[in-house]
Amino acid sequence: MKIAIDGPGGAGKSTIAKAAAKALGLIYIDTGAMYRAVALYAIRKGVNTETEAVDALLPEVEITIQHEGDTQRIYLCGEDVSDQIRTPEISVGASKVAVRPAVRLKLVELQRALAKTNNVIMDGRDIGTYVLPDADLKIFLVADEQERARRRYKELLEKGEKCSFDEVLLDLQFRDKNDASRAFAPLKQAEDAVLLDSTTLSLAETVERVITMIKGKM
Ligand code: C5P
Repeated sequence: MKIAIDGPGGAGKSTIAKAAAKALGLIYIDTGAMYRAVALYAIRKGVNTETEAVDALLPEVEITIQHEGDTQRIYLCGEDVSDQIRTPEISVGASKVAVRPAVRLKLVELQRALAKTNNVIMDGRDIGTYVLPDADLKIFLVADEQERARRRYKELLEKGEKCSFDEVLLDLQFRDKNDASRAFAPLKQAEDAVLLDSTTLSLAETVERVITMIKGKM
């Protein structure tokens, strides 16, 4: 079973995928965390995330993921960085490293290997179009930009991050534009994906719709 959930930042992909995975016994794979881990590595090394120096680091970047219950932990060279990668700086850095084909090819290999040996629900930007073109179900999850920024802002505040709403909105706008305009595997709805707009839906309603769609394919 392979389920792909793509869409712009803050649309609720990870929360919904996690809930659906738990309800249906699937393994949730957060591919954004992998791009975030590469960005964290580059930033720690003092490398500009927009330059080809990132490519040169790739042989040293070792990413593994482990599942604890319904949550995914991500390890960078053996260190659990699951919490460190959730900052606005790393969000923007992830979008910058994600432009680079060498970065994508490395991570896509890992993503496909995970999908080969598990029943997965994978979220990202290019899962339906590039990583798993033969997925059993593809969902393109969207929501109004202001609403996405509100949700992301609330999430960051709850985690104790210091940021303003405007920063979060600008960050989302930058990432959406950058992700949708890159040449290699951009953010895009697959032709055979179901479009789901969660702007006016509650989390529970969105999860319910996704679960119903997945059950229809089981
Ligand atoms: O989903 P998340 O916000 O954690 O993703 C961080 C960044 O990683 C995105 O803005 C995007 O640039 C990149 N990404 C990607 N392809 C994926 C998943 C994430 O390019 N499949």
